[in-house]
Amino acid sequence: MINVTKAYLPNREKYKSYVDQIFDSGQITNHGRFTKELTNRLAHYLGVKNLLLVSNGTLALQVAYKLLELKGDVITTPFSFVATTSSLVWEGLTPVFVDIDKNSFNMDPQKIEERITDATSAIVPVHVFGNPCNVKAIENIAKKHRLKVIYDAAHAFDVKYKSESVLSYGDVSILSFHATKAFHTIEGGALIIKDDELFEKAKWMINFGIRGPSHIVGLGINAKMNEFQAIMGLCILDDMDYLYQARRMRHDRYVQALQGIRSIELPEWNPFGSDNYSYFPVLFESESTLLSIVEDLKRLDIHPRRYFHPSLESLNYVTPQEVPISSDIARRILCLPLFGELDAVNQDCIIDVVRQRTS
Ligand SMILES: *Cc1c(COP(=O)(O)O)cnc(C)c1O
Repeated sequence: MINVTKAYLPNREKYKSYVDQIFDSGQITNHGRFTKELTNRLAHYLGVKNLLLVSNGTLALQVAYKLLELKGDVITTPFSFVATTSSLVWEGLTPVFVDIDKNSFNMDPQKIEERITDATSAIVPVHVFGNPCNVKAIENIAKKHRLKVIYDAAHAFDVKYKSESVLSYGDVSILSFHATKAFHTIEGGALIIKDDELFEKAKWMINFGIRGPSHIVGLGINAKMNEFQAIMGLCILDDMDYLYQARRMRHDRYVQALQGIRSIELPEWNPFGSDNYSYFPVLFESESTLLSIVEDLKRLDIHPRRYFHPSLESLNYVTPQEVPISSDIARRILCLPLFGELDAVNQDCIIDVVRQRTS
């Protein structure tokens, strides 16, 4: 069986040797040695400061909203994983959707200003599939209207914008280290926080509001990463170069085989952005073509995913809004399986099915 992605597992003996060290020390969570080590190594690897590890990406978003004291309406994209919007609603905020650009699939900056009102407190864009948003345009709009910006960068691990980390944009960027992502800690995530004081505040916010041995300085929650998550991250970080090359090869193979087909479209990449090759989205001419491909692949026990479907304005807990480009693209887009261990024979099967149904 082949799914859209496969969680990478590092060398078993290496993971076990870390587990032994955890058993020997007895410290299994609460800012242990390995969580600290992963924090330092990741900050260095990504080229960012003020990185805070947390237990998952959704909590990273929720902590970011609380940290920046968002209220009222928040402008966001309807074309994302559900957590971008559900986390807003969960925190009592109202998502206001701005439609996406039909080529990049990211929030269209030209449509942001018309949705800003006195009730707007922030913008939450997504670098969808790791393709950097137009960060400069978003920055200018945010400055002009004094809005906070939180990037849901769950897909953008180690993505560069003009050769610097895209994670340094916005007041906060968040990452997800879920098993399906480019880099993972089983479950996990991180906040990258621009302001040093807010970074200090976030540290106690993720620990029940407790600072030092027992001083409660404010309202907090439990969003701590544990040591078993951290050691998975340490093991996988050693393998990132290999994983990146392996995904890149398979990505390029898809591009070679599919780019000549006139009835399909691949995302238009930000010319200043790098790619981490963690997704291979393909936009088909119609939903029926997509469904026939899904059916054909299912018979071969190959399971791509409809990332992202449905478009989030259709959720039953948001007020209906018109975002025609997102709702159209969400029906026609499919992410083909892409991971380091995808073998050439299976990839050829996928390519053949797509070719047959699109020509
Ligand atoms: C995976 C993902 C999240 C949620 O992260 P978790 O670590 O699974 O909680 C949020 N936003 C986007 C865009 C994602 O893809």
